[in-house]
Amino acid sequence: MHPLLAEARRLGLHPKRSLGQNFLLDDVHLDRIAQAAELVDTDTVLEIGPGLGVLTTRLAQQAARVIAVELDDRLIEYLETRLADYSNVQIVHGDILEVDPGQLISGAPTVSPSVAYKVVANLPYYITSAVLRHLLEAHARPTRAVVMVQKEVAERICATPGNLSLLAISVQFYAEPSIAHRVPARAFYPVPKVDSAVLRLDVRPQPAVTSVTPERYFRVVRAGFGQKRKQLGNSLSANLGLPKAQVVAALEAAHIDPRRRAETLSLAEWGELSRLV
Ligand code: SAM
Repeated sequence: MHPLLAEARRLGLHPKRSLGQNFLLDDVHLDRIAQAAELVDTDTVLEIGPGLGVLTTRLAQQAARVIAVELDDRLIEYLETRLADYSNVQIVHGDILEVDPGQLISGAPTVSPSVAYKVVANLPYYITSAVLRHLLEAHARPTRAVVMVQKEVAERICATPGNLSLLAISVQFYAEPSIAHRVPARAFYPVPKVDSAVLRLDVRPQPAVTSVTPERYFRVVRAGFGQKRKQLGNSLSANLGLPKAQVVAALEAAHIDPRRRAETLSLAEWGELSRLV
């Protein structure tokens, strides 16, 4: 048994499935996550769910500052003791979805969008989409996020037109995604049912579409994806509550065939459509 696990067990820290606790103890994969973040010694890193602190120590050695947010109260004292030698690490007890990342990094209630930080995390999978949304829609977005997610989710996020989903568009609107590497289920303890992948998000300085507001853009995208496998003309008309003729006219003005399906449209086509509908 890995010495860390033996120690955790001795302290009664059994992994909690309800908190997505699958600990990564494989040095090769841990090093590769840190490498994908391309940390420099001036970086501030937000780590989500430090768990037993294995990734945290690597981040602390490479970055100027690490703020690690952990929800499990059983782990806080353990993490503080284990990371006591790293004066650049701050452990925060809380739910990442309840804290504003920019406020956390700057320590101030009013945050400039230019607060610079990176996110590195082996995410709890039960809140993957919610966390990505929380980070990418934050007032101060990270410049890069390197996150371990379920392999299929990483692939879905990196899809191209023909296979795009609401999740892929929501991420690609704010960031350029790529898969840094894949991680087999056996690299974790306990071994999960799914394989994983390290997803790298290079956050865009500006959203991919700036001709309409994100609210307007996503109102139309959500309406388009509202009815699975339906032609766009029908789903938009039903979900936006607009006459079909009006929707078809907007689609034609945007040079989009009304018979196409939502998953085939590029981000730019959604932009043009949301401007016209
Ligand atoms: N970083 C460790 C590793 O690589 O082994 C642990 C990763 S484990 C997949 C996910 C971690 O996220 C757990 O420590 C869990 O307690 C924590 N967690 C779960 N929900 C959370 C939340 N809402 N906010 C912050 N941490 C959370």
